[in-house]
Amino acid sequence: MASRADFHTHSTFSDGRLTPTGLIDLAHRNGVRIMSLTDHDIVDGLSEAFQAAARYPDFTLVPGIEMSTDVEGGEVHILGHFIDWQDDAFRERLGELQESRLGRARKMVDRLHELGMPVTWERVEFFAGEGAVGRPHIALALVEAGHVATVNEAFDRFLSRTGPAYVERDKLTPQQVIAIIAGVGGFATLAHPREFGAPQGFEPLLDELASAGLTGMEVYYQDYSPDDVAALRRLADRLGLISLGGSDYHGLGGPRQREPGDIPLIMEPVERLLDLAKSRGVLGRAKGPAALR
Ligand code: AMP
Ligand code: ZN
Ligand code: FE
Ligand code: FE
Repeated sequence: MASRADFHTHSTFSDGRLTPTGLIDLAHRNGVRIMSLTDHDIVDGLSEAFQAAARYPDFTLVPGIEMSTDVEGGEVHILGHFIDWQDDAFRERLGELQESRLGRARKMVDRLHELGMPVTWERVEFFAGEGAVGRPHIALALVEAGHVATVNEAFDRFLSRTGPAYVERDKLTPQQVIAIIAGVGGFATLAHPREFGAPQGFEPLLDELASAGLTGMEVYYQDYSPDDVAALRRLADRLGLISLGGSDYHGLGGPRQREPGDIPLIMEPVERLLDLAKSRGVLGRAKGPAALR
């Protein structure tokens, strides 16, 4: 069943397979009427995305980003919605993160050579295209070179956090990223909480993040079961966090892939986010009818 809202998607400007235009066309076809483009550590796709969204009078686009952070033993992704994506200092900071991603990807390519699984930097660059480079681009080069059969296998054998070719990124804490997002007037949401790698789980961290200014938590996500959703929803409610979610669509396939609109995001929390945006005077950063109510 198609739902109307999706607050987590990726395009070619990070590690998604579709251009912002292709992504919005697919989302609209799937019945999505309010969507956020949330590329990894980059906002450069938003300008095309707003142009594409303008072709659909019944479609609202919320400017967004997904930022990677590190904590002891794990990785935490934070979504930012309703950000002032054109802010100069913000874009400069994102430029630094992209530089750091480049250096880190080159090191991972070196590691793969040492491991006897060579891929060329040119192919990684090709898969990364115009946007921020990430591990999925290296995974695609590994598949192309025939070292692995799938992107998932590339992660399982080489690129996961504990894999032999893994190299760390520039480290930012979740608190720093929450502050960066708040600094451009956006709302920070903890992404896919169950994907957090640390053995103790994310719950001990959640109180800290809530006090640091977190607004929401992803509750509706990919293959989360009804029980997962119910448990996450209770946790979000207890901490006063808005229960958001989305497909995290990348278009790279795999068993967990869901298309935009496949995640049954209920509208009540979405309305809460929109009300909050309205009360902070940032609703107009979204383009489309729902933002104009
Ligand atoms: P990076 O931004 O370079 O650290 O890469 C992170 C991205 O890799 C995530 O956003 C996912 O899209 C992808 N990813 C992480 N783990 C896996 C996995 N096990 N299988 C496939 N893709 C993954
Ligand atoms: Zn990704
Ligand atoms: Fe993520
Ligand atoms: Fe994502």
